[in-house]
Amino acid sequence: MDLPEIKYTQLFINNEFVDAASKKTFATINPCTEEVIALVAEGDRADIDLAVQAARRAFKIGSPWRTMDASKRGKLMLSLAQLMTRDKEYLAQLDTLDNGKPYQEALGDIEQSIDVIQYFAGWADKIHGDTIPADGNVMTITKKEPVGVVGQIIPWNYPVAMLAWKWGPALAAGCTLVLKPADATPLSALYMGQLSREAGFPPGVINIVNGFGATAGAAIAEHMNIDKVAFTGSTQVGRIIMQAAARTNLKRVSLELGGKSPLVIFDDVDLDEAVNIAYNAIFTNHGQNCCAGSRTFVQDGIYDEFVKKAAELAKKRVVGDPWTDVDQGPQVNKVQFDRILGFINQGKEQGAKLVAGGQRVGDLGYFVQPTVFAEVTDEMVIAKEEIFGPVQSILRFSTMEEVIKRANDTQYGLAAGVLTRDIKKALEFSHSIEAGSVWINCYDHTLAQTPFGGFKQSGHGRELGPEGVKEYIETKTITMALNQKNS
Ligand code: NAP
Ligand code: MG
Repeated sequence: MDLPEIKYTQLFINNEFVDAASKKTFATINPCTEEVIALVAEGDRADIDLAVQAARRAFKIGSPWRTMDASKRGKLMLSLAQLMTRDKEYLAQLDTLDNGKPYQEALGDIEQSIDVIQYFAGWADKIHGDTIPADGNVMTITKKEPVGVVGQIIPWNYPVAMLAWKWGPALAAGCTLVLKPADATPLSALYMGQLSREAGFPPGVINIVNGFGATAGAAIAEHMNIDKVAFTGSTQVGRIIMQAAARTNLKRVSLELGGKSPLVIFDDVDLDEAVNIAYNAIFTNHGQNCCAGSRTFVQDGIYDEFVKKAAELAKKRVVGDPWTDVDQGPQVNKVQFDRILGFINQGKEQGAKLVAGGQRVGDLGYFVQPTVFAEVTDEMVIAKEEIFGPVQSILRFSTMEEVIKRANDTQYGLAAGVLTRDIKKALEFSHSIEAGSVWINCYDHTLAQTPFGGFKQSGHGRELGPEGVKEYIETKTITMALNQKNS
C-alpha cells in the first residue's frame, strides 16, 4: 500500500487551517522507521486562546449553533459520520502511519468511531428535562443545556476513536470544543477537522490545536474561559488537570486514566478459549489499551497448563510492518518503547518467570516481542504499574475470596473480567470487584451504547452511552408561579 498523502498539518481554528501564532512546528515520527512523517503546527497558549475565542463566539446565544434545531445538530453529525465512511480508508492509513497499528485494526477503529458519532447523533434531539411537582402553586421544569466551551485532551492509542468518544457527546449536547490531540498522533484529527467543515458545522464549533501537553494541554486545563475539560491519559497528568481546574475557574473535569485491570480465570473454563480471551485482552492494540487485561489471574488447578498455552500463543503472534498482514506493529514512540523494555527488565530482576518474548524485535523501529511472565506476584512492579505494552503477567490464585481481595488491591478501577461456567461465581465477582466495566466470559466488549469509565484513580465520569451525554449538560431548574395571588 502507498503511504497516504498528508493534506493538513496546520491548526484548525474557526473552520480555517492556520499556522501556530509562534510559527513553530514539531515533527511527527513514523514508529516503524523512526523517520519524520511531517512537520505539524505546534500550538501553544496563544493558539488555545484563539481557539477558545472562536468556540466562545460559536456558543453565544443567538449564534447559528445555538439557534440550530437539535435535530439539525444530529443531522450534521450524521453527515460527519457519512464523510468518515467515505474516507475511512484514508483515515485508517493516517493512523497506521502515525501510530503504527496494523492497517486492518486501524480500519476497525475508524468503523467503531463512525458508530460512536452515529450513536450520539441520535441523542441530539432526545436530551430533555423533567416536569417536577414541586410544593406550592408552581410548575417546575428542568431544562438541559450544554455545558459550554469544552477542552478535550486525548491520547495516541486510538487517535480517531478517542476523538469520536469526546466529540460525539459534546456535539450532541450542543457544546463547542477545542481538541488537543497527542503530539505522537496529530494527523488524523486534522483530517477530521476538514471533514467537519465539509459536513457543515459552523465556524468555531470544532477547533483542533496540536501541540504538547505541558504547553497547549496545560493552557486548556488552566483556561478561565473553558467550562469543562475532558481528558484521557495517565493518572499523573489527570491529577495535574484536576489541580489546574481547581486553581483557575473550577471548570468541570472528566478523566479517563487507565488501569491495571484483572482478568480472573476459574478452573472450570474451556482452557483454549480462556487462553485466547486472555491473549486478546492484553495484546490487542499492542497492549496500548486503557482497559487491557494486564493482570491475568489463573486458578491453581489449571495454572501450569494455562501458562504453557499462553506462552505458545504469544510466540505465534506476528510482529512487523503494520502495512502487511501482521498481528502487531511497533509501539507508538521511543518513550513508550523504552518504558516497556524497562518494565520487562524489572519483571526479570524481581523474579518473574519469563516464558515468552522479553526483547525488542529487530534494531529499527519500536517493535517489542509479545512477552509473557508467569509466577508473577502482587508486589512486583509489573503487577502494579500500567505497562501499556504487550506484556502479559500471569498470577496464581486459589479461592474466590482471595482473588477478589487481590484484584481490588490497586489504585485503579477501570475494568475487570471473569471467565467461568458458574453463574454464581461470575455474579459474586461482578458484585465485589471495584471497576467501571466488568466482562463475564468476554473482554473489552466496549461499544457506543455502553458507559465506560473508572472507579477509584481510574477517573471521574463516564464516556459513551447515556452517561456520556450527561457529562456535557447542565441542568437549569425553572420554576413558574401559576397564579400570582396564591403563590
Ligand atoms: P499523557 O502524558 O497522560 O498524555 C495524554 C494526553 O495528555 C496527551 O495529549 C498529552 O500531550 C497530554 N498532556 C500531557 N501532559 C499534560 C499536561 N501537563 N497538561 C495537559 N495535558 C497534558 O500520557 P503519555 O505520556 O502519552 O503516556 C504515558 C502513560 O499514560 C502510558 O504509558 C499509559 O500508562 C498512560 N496512558 C493511558 C491512556 C488511557 O487510555 N487511559 C492513554 C495514553 C496513555 P502530549 O502527549 O502531546 O505531550
Ligand atoms: Mg506524553
